[in-house]
Parts: sequence; C-alpha cells; structure tokens
Amino acid sequence: MKVSRRQFLKLTSGGIALLTVPSLISFRALATDNRLDATGVEALALDYVQQSNNAEQNCSNCALLKGDTGNTFRPCAIFGGKTVPITGWCSAWFAKP
Ligand code: SF4
Repeated sequence: MKVSRRQFLKLTSGGIALLTVPSLISFRALATDNRLDATGVEALALDYVQQSNNAEQNCSNCALLKGDTGNTFRPCAIFGGKTVPITGWCSAWFAKP
C-alpha cells in the first residue's frame, strides 16, 4: 500500500497528538499528587496548616520555600520538595533574609 505525503503527515501528526495528551495529563496528575498531605504524619509533626493564622508568617515569606515566585503552590525544602500553598505555615517557618 502506497501512502501519500498528505496521508503520512495526517497519520504522524495524529500519533504525536495521541502521545502528547496523555503525557500532559500525567504531568498534571504528578503535580497535584506532589502536594503535601495536611493530615499526614510529617505535616502534623510540624503543626502544618494550609492557611496561616499569623498575618506576618506564611510560606510565601519563609526561607524554606523554593520554586518560582508567582506560583500558588511551591516546593518546600522541609517536606522533601512536596508542594505547599503560599498561604500555608508550619512550625519550621524561618524568615526570608
Ligand atoms: S517550612 Fe513550613 S512555613 Fe516554611 S515553606 Fe515549608 S511549610 Fe511553609
């Protein structure tokens, strides 16, 4: 069977789309799954909360928060890189220099 150039391009672009969509979905799932479980042992041990009760202390101004400024959830060095909301807080909070 001879495949025309047009048919080849249609087939390969469809194949690439089929490979890309599941990859994007799995990256999104990984990002969501990497969030710190507020009910987990490690979180409870440090009194972690997703919403700080102290207006002057939260994850966004903690020296242990990593990742890109502007993201709502960012990795925390204390919790092995699991992501926390910038509004959160735990007893390991340490002021940004
Ligand atoms: S150490 Fe605590 S306060 Fe600091 S970023 Fe991590 S969870 Fe937030």
